[in-house]
Amino acid sequence: SRSYGGNRCTLYRDSLQVLSSESLALEADLQKAIARNELQLYYQPKVCLKTGKIVGAEALLRWNRCNNGLVSPGLFIPLAEETGLIETIGEWVVKTACRQIKTWTNLGLLIPVAVNVSAYQFNQANFCEHLMEILNDQGVDPAYLELELTESILVKNEELSIRKLKELKSLGVKVSIDDFGTGYSSLNYLNKFPFDTLKLDRCFVKDVHQNPKTQAIVKAVTMMTKQLNLKVVAEGVETAEELAFIYDNLCHEIQGYIFSPPLTDAQFEGLLKSDPEL
Ligand code: C2E
Ligand code: CA
Ligand code: CA
Ligand code: CA
Repeated sequence: SRSYGGNRCTLYRDSLQVLSSESLALEADLQKAIARNELQLYYQPKVCLKTGKIVGAEALLRWNRCNNGLVSPGLFIPLAEETGLIETIGEWVVKTACRQIKTWTNLGLLIPVAVNVSAYQFNQANFCEHLMEILNDQGVDPAYLELELTESILVKNEELSIRKLKELKSLGVKVSIDDFGTGYSSLNYLNKFPFDTLKLDRCFVKDVHQNPKTQAIVKAVTMMTKQLNLKVVAEGVETAEELAFIYDNLCHEIQGYIFSPPLTDAQFEGLLKSDPEL
């Protein structure tokens, strides 16, 4: 039997174009994933560089396909988007994250949780209303929910996107630009869209200590974000050398394997309670 996990996902993404029966089988299974209880959110800590404390979490979706191991979201999210399944899945993600926020709040663990939002979801006409409905139903303070959006989500209709972001912010929800630096008009976007946080893509973090050009970019970005009053989260920090450079260059928070991989809710809770420092 085949595994879809780990570093084989790129291989499978390529072969998906050819093996459409494989893709159809995947789609059929994905359709049943929620009902079969196969979806799960993992939580990766965001750590404050100044205090070394966990100050947030990013919810990352996992699919335990037919209990055969985890399928990478890099593989099934695009499929979910193509097939429209992302609507149901995206709603499940927001609800589950809100329920988790509620559970942690009740335990006295005040941790904002960020969810990734896909283009299809964000561009639904009733996205904001629907989000507020879920927050209200779950009794969650909107200040504890963050949305991570990529630039490509916002380009479809800029004016509408700006209006939506403003509405979300007026409701108290935080908004981040994800994968910053990988799009094509990033600087202009910082100007136009009212983000709270910029997530510096891992491509500017990986081996940054060895690459003067990357260093120049990180320095310029962090200087700019200071003026723009944006929080910066460095993504995918893996080594002490990367961390040292990030630490010295005005990033506020980090996320990465150097501190912790994405964890189950129970693992994350355990880590919070043991309150480790970086
Ligand atoms: P992303 O939003 O950029 O998420 C960060 C990815 O980097 C995650 O991969 C995370 O596990 C990985 N990562 C974290 N620390 C490190 C590190 O130190 N080194 C390296 N090499 N990687 C690190 P993951 O969980 O496989 O998710 C991949 C992508 O799938 C996400 O990228 C996001 O775009 C998408 N995704 C995940 N969950 C959801 C979801 O609930 N909804 C939607 N629409 N997309 C999701
Ligand atoms: Ca993200
Ligand atoms: Ca990212
Ligand atoms: Ca990414």
